[in-house]
Amino acid sequence: MHTPMEPSNARAQQKSKHTFPVAPGVWGMKTIFVNLFFISEPDGSWALLDTGVYGSAEKIRGAAEELFGNIRPRAILLTHGHFDHVGAVKELAQEWSVPVYAHPLELPYLTGKSSYPPPDPSVGGGGMAYMSFLYPKKPIDITNSVELLPPDGSVPGLPSWRWLHTPGHTAGHVSFFREHDRVLLAGDAFVTRHGESVMAVITQKREVHGPPAYYTSDWGSAHHSVEKLLELNPRVAATGHGMPMQGDELLWQLDNLVKDFWTKAVPSHGRYVHEPALTDEQGVISVPPATDNTVPKVLAAAGLVALAGVALVAYSKRGSNQRKHQREMRNRPFSHNRPAQGMPPTVSSTLDEDDPYAHTNNYP
Ligand SMILES: [Zn+2]
Ligand SMILES: [Zn+2]
Repeated sequence: MHTPMEPSNARAQQKSKHTFPVAPGVWGMKTIFVNLFFISEPDGSWALLDTGVYGSAEKIRGAAEELFGNIRPRAILLTHGHFDHVGAVKELAQEWSVPVYAHPLELPYLTGKSSYPPPDPSVGGGGMAYMSFLYPKKPIDITNSVELLPPDGSVPGLPSWRWLHTPGHTAGHVSFFREHDRVLLAGDAFVTRHGESVMAVITQKREVHGPPAYYTSDWGSAHHSVEKLLELNPRVAATGHGMPMQGDELLWQLDNLVKDFWTKAVPSHGRYVHEPALTDEQGVISVPPATDNTVPKVLAAAGLVALAGVALVAYSKRGSNQRKHQREMRNRPFSHNRPAQGMPPTVSSTLDEDDPYAHTNNYP
């Protein structure tokens, strides 16, 4: 089985060394562990979707030349602003002098206003969590080139496509869909990496998995988003991590992900499992407490019982503030936080934990 490709121009028909075909006029490229996409229209115009890790600009420029000669893109589009998707955005936007389009709820993290909700190292498993000290902590600032995606769902520079809000992994996460042949570019709303077993790696068996757990700060919304994507009935899907999937296998696995989301995708324990981070167009409003109980331990060690009382009052105050925010968020135009649905009363605690063969899904 292989992925269909009908290159839109003669140059692209030559086999590209740096890209992989996704669908007619759509090519993917992997930078270290994350994908970005080149999307062209029949008239030869094109746009770049996501920009890889920092230091990828030259590689991206090279592939763009291979595919489109010296035609500059109409736009750069971002599924979200995590550092592995925006690595080359500043450099490329300046060099090509093109606008960068993102969702309003992603803007604070692209204009230096707010950092993302903190990642959740307690989701366990996988090198990404251990490598997290290397991750940049501060948001990038591309105030000069960033623009908002049009509210009508159209995609600047790509008339055959529309964008959909698919929050959960981040608040302003978006996916892109081409209706006529049902091609979906889903960013990190779900991913299609290969399985963890040796056989799966050898055979390059692709599997649908939930959004990368380490950086997902709203699991209820993430669940709604994969439901929304399944409803599109995609024929081909390419995501931020992993290789493209297509056909019945894709639909069957996506359907299973939606059905078993709370056991398969959501980590068995973690900071955001029962309560999302609350954010708005200005950035982070509040986050649930970290799950490592550092504060109570410190208090116990110091024997500051009275202080504990004060802390408890402060904590419950924060809880009621969060509930108030939650109520407010539901009434906001860009509200993305939704009540969790379909969560089993107890999420199995035997999944993932300390099992070297358990799935790791800790990409940013
Ligand atoms: Zn990612
Ligand atoms: Zn991400």
